[in-house]
Amino acid sequence: MGAVLRIHSIETFGTSDGPGIRLVIFIQGCPLRCLYCHNPDSQALTSKFATDLPLEDLLERLEKQRPYFKNKGGVTFSGGEPTVQAGALLEYLPAVREAGYHIALDTCGAIYNRRVNQLYDHSDLIILDVKHIDPDWHRRITGSPIDPVLKNAAYREQTGKPMWLRYVLVPGYTDQPQYLEQWGKVFGDYKSVERVEILPYHTLGVHKYTEMGRDYPLVGVDTPTNEQVEKAAQIFKEYFSNVVVH
Ligand code: SF4
Repeated sequence: MGAVLRIHSIETFGTSDGPGIRLVIFIQGCPLRCLYCHNPDSQALTSKFATDLPLEDLLERLEKQRPYFKNKGGVTFSGGEPTVQAGALLEYLPAVREAGYHIALDTCGAIYNRRVNQLYDHSDLIILDVKHIDPDWHRRITGSPIDPVLKNAAYREQTGKPMWLRYVLVPGYTDQPQYLEQWGKVFGDYKSVERVEILPYHTLGVHKYTEMGRDYPLVGVDTPTNEQVEKAAQIFKEYFSNVVVH
């Protein structure tokens, strides 16, 4: 065993990041800088608050929770961005699979390469955040290009294995009807997409910016109203049969 996963935190009984009850591992480090990020403390690759999670410890935790993993429950690797630690993850995933746990990878899709392809191959479910469909808006919101995200989505589609797509709805930033339509058109024919999740923007992480001495980029932006969320959901429902609002 070589590399060890460096993690931000762990959620033991997660119900929002994949099917069933899940052990959610939030991996430290993310290449994006989303304007609405509610975990800015997970972005840096190194942090004095991050801890190591050896594979043996992970397997031990999973074994303790095994009785709760019904209905495809299991482990979700989230972040931060899990693919920033692809080397360590590639050493962990085969052992986790071998032990019989359902694996979900919750990713922003910002990194596309052979190793990330392999991570996808080892994962039962990919949960991919496609944060905007317009390249300029995507860069404005995340600081990064959309190309790798689209390549990762296409790769998953090509493998024929399951994927959920996620979309954070931010008034004035990601709720333009024409782009929601375009988002639907790009992925509407994907056979791999089992579900589309709308995550209404919230401000729960704002205090972390203050604690870190950083300015919060979306000061003054309100959370979407029920009507705004419903409008976006209606557009997505034109293209997808399973649209869920969180
Ligand atoms: S991808 Fe997630 S963790 Fe990374 S900056 Fe965006 S919201 Fe934050």
